[in-house]
Amino acid sequence: MSSLETPERTRVFPVIGLEVHAQLQTRSKMFCPCPVTVGDEANAATCPICLAFPGTLPVLNREAVTLAMRLALATGSEIHRDSRFSRKNYFYPDLPKGYQITQYDRPIATGGGIEIDTPGGSRTIRLTRIHLEEDAGKSLHDTPFADVPSTVSLVDWNRAGVPLCEIVSEPEVRTAEEAASYLTELRRLLRFIGVSDADMEKGNLRCDANVSVRLSEDEPFGTRVEIKNLNSIRFVAKAIEHEIERQAESLRRGERIVLETRLWDEKSSRTVPMRGKEEAQDYRYFPEPDLGALRIDDAWMSEAAATMPELPRARRARLLAAGVPASDAETLTSARELADYFEQTAALASTRLAANWVTGEVLRWMKERRISAEDALSFPVSPARLAGLLRMLEAGEISAASGKEVLAAMIDSPAEAAALVTEKGLGRISDAGELDRVASEIVASSPGQVALYRSGKTATFGWFVGQVMKRTGGRADPSSVREAITRALETDNG
Ligand SMILES: [Zn+2]
Repeated sequence: MSSLETPERTRVFPVIGLEVHAQLQTRSKMFCPCPVTVGDEANAATCPICLAFPGTLPVLNREAVTLAMRLALATGSEIHRDSRFSRKNYFYPDLPKGYQITQYDRPIATGGGIEIDTPGGSRTIRLTRIHLEEDAGKSLHDTPFADVPSTVSLVDWNRAGVPLCEIVSEPEVRTAEEAASYLTELRRLLRFIGVSDADMEKGNLRCDANVSVRLSEDEPFGTRVEIKNLNSIRFVAKAIEHEIERQAESLRRGERIVLETRLWDEKSSRTVPMRGKEEAQDYRYFPEPDLGALRIDDAWMSEAAATMPELPRARRARLLAAGVPASDAETLTSARELADYFEQTAALASTRLAANWVTGEVLRWMKERRISAEDALSFPVSPARLAGLLRMLEAGEISAASGKEVLAAMIDSPAEAAALVTEKGLGRISDAGELDRVASEIVASSPGQVALYRSGKTATFGWFVGQVMKRTGGRADPSSVREAITRALETDNG
């Protein structure tokens, strides 16, 4: 090896486990009647229970349990008929009780998995557990108030006691891309089954990643580093990518990896140390004395199963079988509401055209207005009206260009497609006489192009087609146009 060559880099094998916190879509908090959704006013949604006044007792939110059961069913996890709550003790100002009620040694569900797509095909990342717990409040270190000195931190307990479920994966994720794929699938699933809005920007879905590396796949797992509070799928992928490289560099230098918790710093694009990693004993877990066992009977099980919608992967497979192209099926099943909008349209028009127009024009309009796929059913043109337009396109009564113009008009008007086509004069020119007249005029006024065509440059024919299309505003049927040009060239005597 010459001195100019860099030494061969040691290959490392990453091991990644993901812990995801999803806020459950309930109206009230986990153990008290305080509302989950409040305005901006700090500490408005608090009561003696979530503020841990002495003498108060928690009452378990039944809906939170049903939602966690629905997620467990959707991931093929085993729901335990008897699970328990524990206290996880730690001191932090955003935690009014001084402990968090969570499930520790007896979670509501174990096992199951999330199927992800990888370059090598689909693969299931198994789940260790799904458990219920309450959220902590929020500390505000940069206070927005002019009369509060910058040395003072404020606390907002509106979020304290909001129901969460934690989804813990087995350490089976191997790359940053797989982690992103896992989170994308999990987020879609949570939304599809109405368990969580899984909005990462609002902090309603948060991910911690445990990352370790080893020098061969046969070695035991290396020391893991936890990266906390990743709030976008892109950051998760970037943080894991960076952390793998950081640990690999350490190993190459012969250093030991330190068990710790790190944070992703987007500004410097690297993970930075946060604190030493706590172990379970640091939390002095013990059974929550104020709550009995969580027992789930057959009736409750049936109730959770009865409200389960078709799962996204099953729905995607069904769309593929109906002839929807793969990339469209992926887009259309990104949200249940979008898939509903598409299927209601496709029930009344061609599947292929419906897929094409919903993923094209409809989504483009929504994206421009920052409307999410979950709000697809609020698109101003109902599936029935869109289907009316698509049927005219399919029958060749209007061109695709005219179709876009009609759709734009339909967004601002309650009128049906047919009425707007008539009103705007966008119907196809099927009158052969009119096309002949236009074709003859163009042929007569373009001697140069005619000469080229006659000298054997048959590609010039396309130029004539383009001219007629332009003159007729794209409303003429292409095959009728070709026939008209052929007739015009035959009768033209130069
Ligand atoms: Zn409360």
